[in-house]
Amino acid sequence: MTITRWLAASAALACLAAPPVLAQSDAALKADATTPGDVLTYGMGYNNQRYSPLSQINTKNVSKLQPAWTYSLNNPQSHESQPIIYDGVMYVTTHNSTVALDPITGKQLWKQEIELPQDVFKYACCGILNRGAAIYDGKLFRATLDAHVMAMDAKTGKTLWKMKAADYQDGQAMTSAPLIANGVVITGIAGGEYGTRGFIDGWDPATGKHLWKFYTTAAPDQKGGDTWPGDTYKKGGAPTWITGAYDPDLDLVYWGTGNAGPWDPTARKGDNLYVCSVVAIRPKTGEIVWHYQFSPNDPYDYDSTEVGMLVDMKIDGKPRKVLAQANRNGFFYVLDRANGKLLAANPYVKVNWADKIDMATGRPVESDVTRRARAGEDVEVWPSVLGGKNWTPMSWNPATGLAYANTLNMSWPYQIAKQDYKRGEWYVGVNLRGVNFTKGQTHGFLSAIDPMTGKSKWQMAWPGQPSMAGTLSTAGGLVFTGAATGEFMAVDANNGKKLYEFNVGTGIIGLPVTWESKGKQYVSIVAGGGGVWAVLGDERMAATPAGGSVWTFEVK
Ligand code: CA
Ligand code: CA
Repeated sequence: MTITRWLAASAALACLAAPPVLAQSDAALKADATTPGDVLTYGMGYNNQRYSPLSQINTKNVSKLQPAWTYSLNNPQSHESQPIIYDGVMYVTTHNSTVALDPITGKQLWKQEIELPQDVFKYACCGILNRGAAIYDGKLFRATLDAHVMAMDAKTGKTLWKMKAADYQDGQAMTSAPLIANGVVITGIAGGEYGTRGFIDGWDPATGKHLWKFYTTAAPDQKGGDTWPGDTYKKGGAPTWITGAYDPDLDLVYWGTGNAGPWDPTARKGDNLYVCSVVAIRPKTGEIVWHYQFSPNDPYDYDSTEVGMLVDMKIDGKPRKVLAQANRNGFFYVLDRANGKLLAANPYVKVNWADKIDMATGRPVESDVTRRARAGEDVEVWPSVLGGKNWTPMSWNPATGLAYANTLNMSWPYQIAKQDYKRGEWYVGVNLRGVNFTKGQTHGFLSAIDPMTGKSKWQMAWPGQPSMAGTLSTAGGLVFTGAATGEFMAVDANNGKKLYEFNVGTGIIGLPVTWESKGKQYVSIVAGGGGVWAVLGDERMAATPAGGSVWTFEVK
């Protein structure tokens, strides 16, 4: 090589090595909600609002929506993955692969398979699935069912590092997308039904080095440790199986925690911190700054893992930075996200386990039903084990001031049934008989909820099966969601009128996203039935086949 050619090559390398402006940087992640050309975060922004400022597709023309392309994921399991879109590439995950697609044509750019141990499936409680990836600094991050976290080269899919977070044979699995906050890869863990101890991990994106671990059940020598008898905290649950939210200005990550283990509350008298809570932690260290517990001593599997949305709204004429959450326990909560102070808590579905939330103490006032349940009686509890809303995220529209969520309208029969712990097996201590279906009753709605009152401005009833899909809101006045029977649809955000529907041929339990390329708006969804609803069993689903596929829609 001549000196001139060497110099030219060096200059080219120097160019390549220069840090790309905003590309998957902290600033780009922070701006994600307002940059519709890409989708860099789970939640379409750190605030989890799943709101897009795009309005090219709107109430007037959405009836002309049509599929642009579809791509088969070649996978008959459950599909709850939210696509990530960056720089002309769409990234989608399944339980056993990661794919990169051209978002305009749907053509595969690369596909990387994930090898899993044969016995991993018996430990996946509620569907074999993955909920998506995170992108940062040229790398794609995801978690695996056998409880590993991995980084891939976003250009090629080549694995750069892979780290073990837990032993899957204990019943701990990883299904959710990582969160990148303040330069740290943050991941949660599933397994609340297996007598496990939940935690949140921080990892170095460059090397995979483990930076910190925050256990979500407090040991005796920690703050909150006195809320657990003996060593019950070791099997106390509080899993962290949905991605959190992040407020970069407060530098607080908000992460929801799940049910107490076992469900039988008499096995662990006390509040059991931090089960069924939101914890606000520092992303650099995992240090806890504040917490709020929704369901102290939770008897009902009321996971609070879906953390909700960060919204700036006026309350009594004053601007407040809040965390708004439709909790599985049936109450819609509004908290001051700087300090966890309770601002509102009202039922958004039928609730009979508590009479109200005491605004002074922030604690539920348990009802006679719960007193009888705790005494061992067989009772009917509202909402059911699936909650007033399950894990699927809601969305926010700042123009309407409403939260759009697929809500559930079901009760369940509940009775404590003592159970001993066995490693890697369900450990719930309740006689689980599913949920109650009442003939002629609507079991779920798409609801447009006022966060301060919990009341719905409108509801669209789901005929037959309730929807367990997420929602997307847009400045075009639309809410996008999907049905358990496969209809992808757009609804008027103001009145709930259905404006568009297209059957994708398999159930929808995923999360719609919208984005633009060269001035044109697209809407995408990963389809493929399954999930916790299928685990519970519903013979009415027999006519809706499984099978994962990615769909992108456009107005031509
Ligand atoms: Ca964006
Ligand atoms: Ca649970």
